[in-house]
Amino acid sequence: MVTLESKFGVSSIGKVAIISRPFPLVGHIAFGIIDRGYNNLQVRVSSLCPLSCLFCSVAAGPHSSRENEFLLNDSEWFAEWVKMAIKEKGSLHLLFDGIGDPITHRDLKKFVEAVKEIQGVLSITVETRLFPASRNLVYELWNSGVDRFNVSIDTLNEEKAKILSGNSAYSVERVRDLILYARKELGVEIHITPLWLPGLNDIDIEEIISFAIKADIGGRIPPLGIQKYVAHKYGRKAAGVKEVSWSDFRSFLEKLQKKFGIKLLLSPEDFGLEKAPRLHQPYRMGDSLKLTVAGKGLLKHEYLAIPPKKDRVFTLVSKKTNFTSGDVVASKIIRDKDGILIAVPK
Ligand code: SF4
Repeated sequence: MVTLESKFGVSSIGKVAIISRPFPLVGHIAFGIIDRGYNNLQVRVSSLCPLSCLFCSVAAGPHSSRENEFLLNDSEWFAEWVKMAIKEKGSLHLLFDGIGDPITHRDLKKFVEAVKEIQGVLSITVETRLFPASRNLVYELWNSGVDRFNVSIDTLNEEKAKILSGNSAYSVERVRDLILYARKELGVEIHITPLWLPGLNDIDIEEIISFAIKADIGGRIPPLGIQKYVAHKYGRKAAGVKEVSWSDFRSFLEKLQKKFGIKLLLSPEDFGLEKAPRLHQPYRMGDSLKLTVAGKGLLKHEYLAIPPKKDRVFTLVSKKTNFTSGDVVASKIIRDKDGILIAVPK
């Protein structure tokens, strides 16, 4: 059956919206392309996640209270948007990341293949917790063109890892095995990105550093990118964990750098990143325009909405009025940072 949503390129399976041609792939936080003004793009093919980490900044996973999740359906359509971005920005690194885990997309390999040979694609990285993953999946992704995995682990302690991830099936031992397989047997670059939860995993961070040194993790990039815990408005807060200041975070890294003789204070240049022209922004904060509702959004009171030119996707936020697909709403843009577009009814 052709529904209004499917006419726009959005169809739904339960709470998962499947995004297809001709739906625009720039403008939303949960799927498509995000440009933050460097010679790379964040590319998002899935917002799903099998874990419910206690500290998740985007509150993803089975315990999530999000209204809707998103999957891209069409790798060729996705490749066309990447080509368009390269035309405007020049050569680019691609980072498959998300407000979930990209490996939840069963066709991730297809999406990697679709962009690998595009002229101007400099490298492909997948940011993941490698759960659930197998050696076969890692091999297939590498074989389809992945140059690097950024892998998040926050402890090497199996029991603690299950608690922190909010999933008793999660096994950090298994993830460690996959990291070693990828690095030693396939020669893939690995960048480990532990989250420092002050007071909760201080010793664990040191153990992860020792593991990374011993296993010769890394490649052309530094092996470790320790992340700062930041309590986000819509994220989960790790109970009992206090957010430290950026200067305390820096001191923590400096201390560890000295202790282990390894680079931990990183800059964009360590990853070959430099400033680059931004994608043109046809819509700006303060503009008024008519938006057509094309489906439900990520959170309560949010909708997917598109302008008449169908060249960007908006998040339309409406607490007062409920809309259905096809409704045309006179709207005003209230946010356009990094091309992520949020509007409200006028
Ligand atoms: S932190 Fe990452 S892996 Fe954990 S629930 Fe959030 S998105 Fe999923």
